[in-house]
Order: sequence, then structure tokens, then C-alpha cells
Amino acid sequence: MTKYVYDFSEGNKDMKDLLGGKGANLAEMTNMGLPVPPGFTITTEACLTFLAKGGAPPEMLEEAGEHLRGLEDAMDKTLGDPDDPLLVSVRSGAKFSMPGMMDTVLNLGLNDRSVEGLATQTDGDVRFARDAYRRFIQMLGKIAMDVPADAFEHALDEAKAAKGPNAQDTDLDADDLSALIERFRAIYREQTAEDFPQEPMEQLRLAIAAVFGSWNGRRAIDYRRQNKISDDLGTAVNIVAMVFGNRGEDSGTGVAFTRDPSTGEKVPYGDYLENAQGEDVVAGIRNTKRIAELERIDPDSYRGLMDVMATLEGHYRDMCDIEFTIEKGKLWILQTRIGKRTAFAEWVMAYDMLDEGLIDEDEALLRVDANRLEELFKRRVRADGARPIAKGLNASPGAATGAVVFTADDAQERANAGDKVVLVRRETTPDDYHGMIASQGILTSAGGTNSHAAVVARGEGIPAVCGADGIKLDPAGKTFTANGTTVREGEVVTIDGFTGNVYVGELALEESVLEKARSGDEEARGEKIWKAFERLMSIADARRRLRVRANADTPDQSSNARGRGAEGIGLCRTEHMFLGQERVGAVRQMIFAETEAEEQRAYDALLPLQREDFVGIFRAMDGLPVTVRLLDPPLHEFLPNQVELAVGVARAEERGEGEVRLREERVPLDDARVILGKVDQLHEANPMLGLRGVRLGIVKPGLYAMQVRAICEAAALVQQEGGDSKVEIMIPLVATKPELEQMRAELEPVAAEVLRAEGVQLDHLEWGTMIELPRATVTSGEIAEAAEFFSFGTNDLTQTAFGFSRDDIGKFVGMYEERKLVPANPFVTIDQPGVGRLMRIAVEEGRAANASLHVGICGEHGGDPASVAFCHQLGLDYVSCSPFRVETARLAAGQAAVGSRESAST
Ligand code: PEP
Ligand code: MG
Repeated sequence: MTKYVYDFSEGNKDMKDLLGGKGANLAEMTNMGLPVPPGFTITTEACLTFLAKGGAPPEMLEEAGEHLRGLEDAMDKTLGDPDDPLLVSVRSGAKFSMPGMMDTVLNLGLNDRSVEGLATQTDGDVRFARDAYRRFIQMLGKIAMDVPADAFEHALDEAKAAKGPNAQDTDLDADDLSALIERFRAIYREQTAEDFPQEPMEQLRLAIAAVFGSWNGRRAIDYRRQNKISDDLGTAVNIVAMVFGNRGEDSGTGVAFTRDPSTGEKVPYGDYLENAQGEDVVAGIRNTKRIAELERIDPDSYRGLMDVMATLEGHYRDMCDIEFTIEKGKLWILQTRIGKRTAFAEWVMAYDMLDEGLIDEDEALLRVDANRLEELFKRRVRADGARPIAKGLNASPGAATGAVVFTADDAQERANAGDKVVLVRRETTPDDYHGMIASQGILTSAGGTNSHAAVVARGEGIPAVCGADGIKLDPAGKTFTANGTTVREGEVVTIDGFTGNVYVGELALEESVLEKARSGDEEARGEKIWKAFERLMSIADARRRLRVRANADTPDQSSNARGRGAEGIGLCRTEHMFLGQERVGAVRQMIFAETEAEEQRAYDALLPLQREDFVGIFRAMDGLPVTVRLLDPPLHEFLPNQVELAVGVARAEERGEGEVRLREERVPLDDARVILGKVDQLHEANPMLGLRGVRLGIVKPGLYAMQVRAICEAAALVQQEGGDSKVEIMIPLVATKPELEQMRAELEPVAAEVLRAEGVQLDHLEWGTMIELPRATVTSGEIAEAAEFFSFGTNDLTQTAFGFSRDDIGKFVGMYEERKLVPANPFVTIDQPGVGRLMRIAVEEGRAANASLHVGICGEHGGDPASVAFCHQLGLDYVSCSPFRVETARLAAGQAAVGSRESAST
């Protein structure tokens, strides 16, 4: 028989799949002897069965009942007891933390009679007991029975209004609450046509069903999509004896981190709220106190908490995030998990923990997320004397500037229209998630560093300033005012998530510490983040087997890439060398040439220009391999747009003008007619599958010969200067072995002739091809006989394997991901079962035919960590990616060599 329910004493931290993160860690802490309230966990398996069958399996409810009786025995109290009731919380908890995305019910077990027992238990605190009961009715009604939240809120507002202007919840006395309970019960009845359930087992059944159901709520689904969490995991349900942080000044609740999750510094960090219940801290309803203040408020509990924090960090060997409650001076730990942290803090912590001997080098390397490395290079605000209009908490680092919007829907809408927006709210709730992730930055006027806004922003890498209480919001009027300045919707603000400052207008943004350090700034080099970066990157470099090259087309890009650790160029696209006023003329001359002599004149004009480009690149990459790809795109890309040109010619003809105006160009009408004729002639219905790549080389033999000449002359010149050019010449879009053979037969003699004439020998001159067509992958055994290297062009290979146009896929790839028709955008992360399989065939069959074949990748995937890991598995020799992703690829390659891990943030 399936076991659906586990007591906390029966589980451990490694059972996250079954017990969820919260349940597994509660079990672990229980077994460590930490002060955890007793409870039990209903498994994720029960949730999946529940969701599949549309109801709870009867044996699960039975098992839960037995565990409940055990809990009652342990607490020596009974659920629903009119004299001394046990109360429980019913909390969601999936394998991966989904903060605030699913439901929780507190104070379960209260009914019309046990509310009096609770009052007795709490030394006659009738007000407290009734407040707990009205909250319970509200929560269960909303969550389990879909009673609109507004109905309760409205009744609560009326009750407060009756107490006078500006009355708070806390102004309602026991009698007011008694009336409010009646009102809430009536609302429940009106909305559900049933009485509020008095029977605790019935309450429990409803609450469990609601928590299971919340796995498929909109918020949870959106969050999973954004965070790439599988829909198939389900959530566990934790049923825990209630402890109360809202029982007076000697009670309270808080969230603490064993290190600062923003900066990584080794100091306790967090928020505490006196006389409050758990959700109040996260909801950002009241401004919280810093954890250090607890030392003054309740020194014993503070010491107890510090001890627990040290124990947990030593046990988990990582930064822990803890939820705790103090009830009448007694400390309870309600939850722990490995804490989420900023990209910045992640590096600092891994470096420190390595230094402290808490973890070893491999572990330190795996502690940082290659997908977030780019964040470390994010800019900061350069204030230059600008005065902030408000200051809040530095809740999530980075600087953002954008137009102010006041609702999540507006944020999403304007962002979809291409605007940069900053979402300004009093506080955020899980319902704002879609707008938050569409924003450049988030600014809230209330809430602490652990408010919903702060937690989500840090998780998503969005800069945020929270709790800027100098800001007065008028959401209806779509304005906010701070320090006498009124900012309207659409006006631009700049927020600094490192300092918490808020500015009106667009401020200049400054380089990050890492960027400064890399360019030699001594002060920046003294900072810990730079030391962490250098240390962990050197570990990655020592571990990785994959080489990392860059895709670079100019000398500048090449030196930039080299500065970031690139070990060569894996793709130098030569097409940009055909652009620019001076060159386009010659390129067109080549395209229009009627005779060989005309064509040759065009090549003669282009040759020195190309040579000059290559000289700069070979110099910048002295001693490292440079793969130059011969011209790939369809020729019409160098001609004016067909429609614009046709319209221009027609208009000039109609108006009797002698000139056609085309963007920056003015072309005599007669010439324009000739160009139009050629454009029409070159027009292809499907240019991506047309006259491009090696096909150009075959149709226009002089073109590739000119390029090879330019490459070899440049390499020779650098060699004569005392440099070391390592040249790899790459033919694109090859589908058959004869294509490659024919090209080599034509081009190798050109190279040989140049080198002979220059009296230079290159010890590294290789000829190879891109593998970017399915046919090439499955005939790679043959092609490898004619190639010294392969480089996967996974952009085209993905395009041709799926039949997805890489230029148009943006219109529907989102929907494909949403509907799970593809696991991820295949143009970002290699589709392993399809494109990946083709790659595997090509590597295996290519190497079998040619043992010295070396193989790399130069599609965009070369800088995507998951794809880099796959390339490592395939045994490629190198990955090549954009210069700014070189470090990401180095890190991912090091991590792949050490082995993968599960997300730390569970
Ligand atoms: C590719 O197709 O993956 C590639 C690198 O070439 P391009 O993007 O230039 O077509
Ligand atoms: Mg390509």
C-alpha cells in the first residue's frame, strides 16, 4: 500500500521529491533536535493522485487522520476541543520553493466553540482568539471555497470605518470581532450556500484539497513556467501544530538568513516583526525591524536563534533561510531551506565558504549559476550629484531606468510594446508576478527586504528598491509624490537596487566592479567579488576539458574576447566586411558583372579591404586559432530591398524625377532600374534555403578565391612581423562531400600560391566545414574524409532540423514553450533529442572516419550553459560564443566537467 503521510520524525532532507522542500527540511530539523513544532507531511504523490482523480484517495485521508491523532497525543490537545483546542496550519511545499505562489491555511481547528477554548488557553485573550477565528474563516473561505477576497475585505473595512477614521485592524475589540465573525460566516453562507464548517476533519479535508488544487492555480503555473519547474511534481502539504507570534509584545515572527543574501557578507540578516503572525512579514504590510534589533528586544530568543543558525549552516554547509516565530519568549523554527541569493552574493559566499573550509573547490564551483554570471557585470547608477527623491531598501541589486507604471497589467502591456518600465506599487502580491517580470525594475513604498517584491526581484535578477516609505502613491490618479516631486505615469525614473535610491529622470549608469577590475582598476581589484571571480574562474579553467573560443568579426571584438579568456576565434563571419559605403559599391559591381574581367575588378577592389580586416584579427589573436568562414548570406542582402526599390523607381518615373531616394542613398533612375532588374533576378522565395553558403562559392568561384587570398596574405604579413597566425578556413552550409572537395580543390592552390609568393609557411592551416544541415550530419562520415574540422552551426541546424524559420519563430515560440510542445526555445538551448542526436551522429561518424578531426560549435548555443554541458558530454573540442558570454561558457564548461547538481534554491 502506498504510504501517503510521513511524520516529521520519519523524513529527511533528501526526500524533497516526496515531501517537498519544506517537509523534507522540517523532518531534517526535527531529527536534528531543533525546536520545530510537531507535524506531518502528506506527500507530493498524494497530490498527483488527487489531481489525477479529482479527489483525495480515501486511504490518504485515513492515514492523515491517524497522524493527526498522533499529533494530538504529542500536544496533549484535541482539534476542535471547546476547552483546550489544538490548532494546525496547513501549508503547501513543493520540491522547489515557489514563494507565495500556492496556498496556506492557518488556525485550522477553530469553530464557534473552540474559539472560546483558545481564549482560555491564551489566558483569557478573547480578542486574540476571535481575531484568529475571523482570519481562519476568511482564509478557508477564500482559498477552499473561492469566496471573493473583496467580500471579506469590504466587511473588514466597514468594521474599521465604524470605529472612526484611520482605524486599524488592531482597533477592533473583542465585541467588534464577534460581530465581524457573524458577518464573515454570513458571507461564507451567501457565497457557498453552506454553513462555515464546524467539524475540524471537514475543515482539514477542505484545506488539503485547496492546497493541492493551488498547484494548478494561475500564479503557480506562471511561476513554474518562468522558473522552468516541471508541472508534474505536485506539492506536498504540511500539517503543523500552530504557534502564535501574535500573542503580545513577547511574541513575534521573522525571517532570517545565515548570511546577507544581497551582498554575501557573513552576517546574520533578516527581518523581525513584533506581535505578528508569519505572513505579515512577507506581505510587507507593516515595516519590519532588522534582525539585529531582536538582540535588544529579546536577548534569549536572539541567542537561541543565532545558535540554530550556526547549527543549520554547519549542517547544510550553505547559507540557510529560516522562518521563525517566538511565542511568549519561546523560539520555534517553522521552516528552513537553502536561501536564495543574488548572483553577487552567490560568488562571495562560495568564495568565503571555500576559504572557511566549509566546502571544497568542486563544490564552490558548482555553487555559482552560470546563467546568472552576466548579472555581475551589470551597471550601477552614476548619480553625479543627482539628488534622490526617495530612499528605500536595497532589495535587489542592479540599476534600472524606465517609464513609471502602476499596475502589473500596464507593465506587461507596455513592455510587450517594447517600452522599458519601472513598476511602482505600495507592495506586490503574487498576482503581480507577470508584470514584475516584464519590468526593468520594481519600486515599492512598503515592505521589507523579504517582502514579496524583494524575494521575487532577487530571484529573477530584476533590480528593486522596496519600502521607500517617503513615496506617497495615488494609484487611482496614476501618480506618486516623494519629497515634493510628483511623478506621473509614463515619466522616467531611475532606481538603484544597490543603494535603495530613487531618482527622477534617466541617470547615467556606471560599469560594475568586475568590469572595472577587468580593465585594470586597482581599487576594484581589491574587492572581494573580484577575488571570488578570479578564484572560481581559475578553478573552472583548471577543471574544464572544453576549450572556449569566441565568435568575433573585428579586431576590437577579438581583443575583447581575448581579454575575457577566449582561446581563439571559432567563427569570424566575413559578411560585415562586405558592408559600408566603400565596399557595397564593389560588392554590387561583383554581383552585376557581365564579364569575368568586370568581376575580377570587383574582387581586386575588395581584396585589400578584406586583407586589412584579417591582419587586425590575426594580430589580436596572435598564437591562437582563428576560424574564418567564407561568405555565407544570400547576395541579395547586399542589394536594396526589392519592394522599396520597386516603389522608389515607380515613384520617380511617375513624378518624372531623375533620381531614386533609398534610405541614405540617392541612385540615378537608370542605375536604379538596372539594380531592380538584378534584385528581381536574385529574388528567392526562400533565401535561407537558397543561393547562400557553399553554393555561392560554387556559383561565383572568384569570390571565395579572393577571400582565401586575403586571409593568406594577411596571415603571411602577421607571420613576417614575427607573429603566429593559426588559420582555419571554413566553408559554410555544406550538404555533400563533393561540395567540400570541389571547394578545397579550387582554394588550396590559391593559398599555396600566396604562401609560396610570400615565402611564408603556416604551421596551422586547416580546411573544414560547418555542419549545419541535417544531410551533412548523417553523411558526416563521408564529409569528414574531406575535412580537417567540423563546426556545428546550430542556428541553421535547428532551423533546418525543425523546419522553423529562425527569423520568424519569435512569433510563436512562446506559445510552443507554454504548451510544452518544446521543452525550451530550441534556438537558445540545444534540442537534445533531435538536433542533439544529429550532432551526436556527426561527431561519432565524423571521428570514426577521420581520427584527427577536431570538432566545435559556433551557433548561439555555444554560450548557453545547458548547451555547453551537452557539448561537454558529446566530447566536442571547443565551444565558440559571443565575446560577452565567453566567461559564462568557461564557467559552464568547468561545471560540466565537475558534474551537474540540482538547483541549490530549494
Ligand atoms: C549557425 O548557423 O549556427 C551559424 C553559426 O551561422 P549563422 O548564424 O551565421 O548562419
Ligand atoms: Mg549558419
